Amino acid sequence: MTFSNGVAAALKKVTIRTEAFIGGEFTPARSGETLPCITPIDGSEIAQLSACDAADVDAAVQAARASFESGVWSKMPPRKRRQVMLAFADKIEAHSDELALLETLDMGKPIRNTRNADIPLVVQTIRYYAEAIDKIYDELGPSPHDAVSMIVREPLGVVGAVTPWNFPLLMASWKFAPALATGNSVIMKPAEQASLTMLRAAELAQEAGIPAGVLNVVPGDGAKAGKALALHMDVDALVFTGSTAVGKLIMGYGAQSNLKRVALECGGKSPQIIMEDCPDFDAAASAAAWAVFYDQGQVCTAGTRLLVQNSIKDEFLAKVAAVAKGLKPGDPLDENTRFGALVDETQMNTVLGYIEKGGAEGAKLVCGGERALSESGGFYVAPTIFDGVDNQMTIAQEEIFGPVISAIGFDDFDDAMRIANDTIYGLAAGIWTSNLNYAHKASRTIRAGNVWVNCWDGSDITTPFGGFKQSGFGRDRSLHALDKYTELKTIWMKLS
Ligand code: NDP
Repeated sequence: MTFSNGVAAALKKVTIRTEAFIGGEFTPARSGETLPCITPIDGSEIAQLSACDAADVDAAVQAARASFESGVWSKMPPRKRRQVMLAFADKIEAHSDELALLETLDMGKPIRNTRNADIPLVVQTIRYYAEAIDKIYDELGPSPHDAVSMIVREPLGVVGAVTPWNFPLLMASWKFAPALATGNSVIMKPAEQASLTMLRAAELAQEAGIPAGVLNVVPGDGAKAGKALALHMDVDALVFTGSTAVGKLIMGYGAQSNLKRVALECGGKSPQIIMEDCPDFDAAASAAAWAVFYDQGQVCTAGTRLLVQNSIKDEFLAKVAAVAKGLKPGDPLDENTRFGALVDETQMNTVLGYIEKGGAEGAKLVCGGERALSESGGFYVAPTIFDGVDNQMTIAQEEIFGPVISAIGFDDFDDAMRIANDTIYGLAAGIWTSNLNYAHKASRTIRAGNVWVNCWDGSDITTPFGGFKQSGFGRDRSLHALDKYTELKTIWMKLS
């Protein structure tokens, strides 16, 4: 089987920008270095991406600083800024088919996901923060009669954002939309595996009226471009989504440089708890499978630890396995495909390595466990389920970021709570139960930023998103996200 004709045809329908976007212009990396862009659909090279380093980052910071100080964006009247951002959202919407295709080519998730979910959610995110711009008021303090105290929010200045490849433009928009809405100038460092939609979006932002220098993009290797951004002395904040390991480095870079503000959205190892009084076993089994197999498990909130009460475990796991077996990896460009490729060969090998380790540590393979569609040249792994997992095993403790469910049995509610919290992560959790007491108690006992009851991944731009523990700190989405991009200032005026 080969998918290469599909890739070639799709490439004709997209505009590919590969150079850094600095000060409103596409420009090659100063070093002239490039990185190959490999589509995981069939392993072919689709572009050469500029590989920025500290010199390019410095140029981007200078452009961002100049635009911020000029006030061209930071002091633009709020209603006008809102109009420009709404025009930006309209541009993304008008190019949504192209952006969806580009994202699927770049990182291998099914076109039905990018077209129906990811890109529409980007549009929604930009519109949400645009609409907030002229509807949020500052505060007056309860000062004595001979004084006025004003508590105002001001933009930070230059914001750097380092983002991952799993929802490339959506995760980026969770950063740049609130940062721009609050008047900052921004530098994006997308993941090298999936930078193409962010570069194209920057061009669309400029067409919509975002002034030159306000939104910059420096593609390239994280250890060079990302590190240089996080260490830069003239960057006021560094917001990050990615692994906990890199999040720790980012915090260190902030401390080593100018004590820039840092916000981290990191990994997860989220528990899904199925109690024996689950109200709907079929719905729960389907949700449990999709909680891990959506986007091939490359989702930070993936419910990879499936905790099932022992009294119903065999029956329940059979239902989850039936969903998994019905999911065949396929060509991500095919409208009917629901399960696509992993982002690259390295990620595929990492996932296969964890699967091997699961078997070696004594977990029982129920289904999957192998590479699929290797004849296509792309990077696919079949939906995989392990039973008999102990919570101390590697596959229960480490984030795999692939389509692997680790099923763990438990005896009673307290047992489930203990196992759920026995992790360094705290991003998400879920419980299926008919018992209101269990639902409420679990919601308050599990240390995670999102808890779902009788569902998985219920979410909206209006609700905050982020983690407890080593899943990070700071929140994306909702009006709470604006806190990360503004500084509170108190102004006390004495009246005569
Ligand atoms: P990584 O942590 O490997 O990379 C994230 C970003 O950091 C990339 O842009 C990467 O660049 C960059 N980076 C890598 N090394 C450095 C460095 N030394 N200094 C500065 N930047 C660096 O994560 P992935 O891209 O592999 O994404 C998957 C991870 O993201 C998972 O752990 C997942 O849980 C997490 N994630 C969390 C979410 C959340 O909201 N909590 C949402 C989505 C994902 P490059 O890759 O180009 O080297």
